[in-house]
Amino acid sequence: MTRADTMFREGSSDIPPIARVPSEWAQHLAARGERAFRAAQLFDWIHAKGVTDPEAMTNLSRAMRSWLAASGLHPVASMAHLHRAPDATVKLVLSLADRSVIETVLIPMNPARPDEPRDADLPDPEDDDSEQDDAAEAGRVRVTQCISTQVGCAMQCAFCASGANGLQRHLSPDEIVSQTLIGRSLLAPDHVLTNVVVMGMGEPLHNYDATARALRLLTHPQGIGLSPRRINVSTVGLVPGIERLGRDFEGRVGLAVSLHAADDETRDRIVPMNKRYRLQDIVAALRSYPLPPHRRLTVEYALIDGVNDHLDHARRLASLLQGLRVKVNLIPMNPVASSGFRPPPFDRVLAFQQVLTRAGYVCLLRRRRGDDISAACGQLAATVQRPPDESS
Ligand code: SAH
Repeated sequence: MTRADTMFREGSSDIPPIARVPSEWAQHLAARGERAFRAAQLFDWIHAKGVTDPEAMTNLSRAMRSWLAASGLHPVASMAHLHRAPDATVKLVLSLADRSVIETVLIPMNPARPDEPRDADLPDPEDDDSEQDDAAEAGRVRVTQCISTQVGCAMQCAFCASGANGLQRHLSPDEIVSQTLIGRSLLAPDHVLTNVVVMGMGEPLHNYDATARALRLLTHPQGIGLSPRRINVSTVGLVPGIERLGRDFEGRVGLAVSLHAADDETRDRIVPMNKRYRLQDIVAALRSYPLPPHRRLTVEYALIDGVNDHLDHARRLASLLQGLRVKVNLIPMNPVASSGFRPPPFDRVLAFQQVLTRAGYVCLLRRRRGDDISAACGQLAATVQRPPDESS
């Protein structure tokens, strides 16, 4: 049993129903004199079948369904809008019980163009473990979902829309996992959810407990059943959170760090949290992350014209990361109305990439996905807008 298995056993009484693992359901049901197999049955309804309304749980008695509803089992998110981009990316705008609004994005891989450059967020072809996958994935379009962990964000990165209005609140673990339950329910029959990136609104490690529980639910074999290696948690660099994540999941969950600069002076300008956790401390935490063999960390670097895109910046990045098992995802920054920053000209992006590649790093260039519906990195701000092709 791993630490991640044991860490959730306590304090189950105040865990929201959708966030309970089977053993916690068993405790609740035992207190009511229900038989033990009901715990697995309920977990299966919620996480394998995606049903969160007890009325739809047809193999339960009427009394049991009423008790579940009375004890707080109900959907915690509902769809407010669905935006479909021409590149098949889908952004879901979800409404929560307190009328907060969050966003999640479904990003299908394009099977017709397997050779095209992959989006920086999408699974690295070298990390691909499809040979080991079950038949369910064969011949189907693999979909990556990007999920949010907070309403707004406290990190205030200068180039990101999610934090423009500050942090409204943390999401609870049931709200986090419900994004995937809803997203998965909307997939076409020939599509299959294979990856989750925790790169939507918010800083996941600032909301550590809820995020960790959501990861536990996403990877539960009786539920959604994602492989931990197919989940990538992205952080601005909260060092204690990186250490906890590494410990709690034994390095099996993918980790992406939003560096965006290789010297503290530049990083201070664009990532305010850098004043708290300096680059050397972040890199030290990455060195200690208990990464399994053959896996790599991800470093994200959004290129901003005239700020962090000089070739000297690329050289400093190459030397900062020396000896780390990393791949670098370069992202010409997506335009964000609230910032005066722009992406650099494309030839500078390529030159930056070349410095890193020549230094021996795997360095992927982001293909923009969903930016025409404001679904790209840093554009999730939960403002409900109306693109021409909106359908909801
Ligand atoms: N708070 C986490 C996860 C959310 S943001 C983090 O900082 O990593 C997901 C990624 O999008 C981060 O790498 C973030 O820095 C990046 N991002 C934010 N705004 C962006 C923009 N305008 N263009 C490109 N990437 C951006």
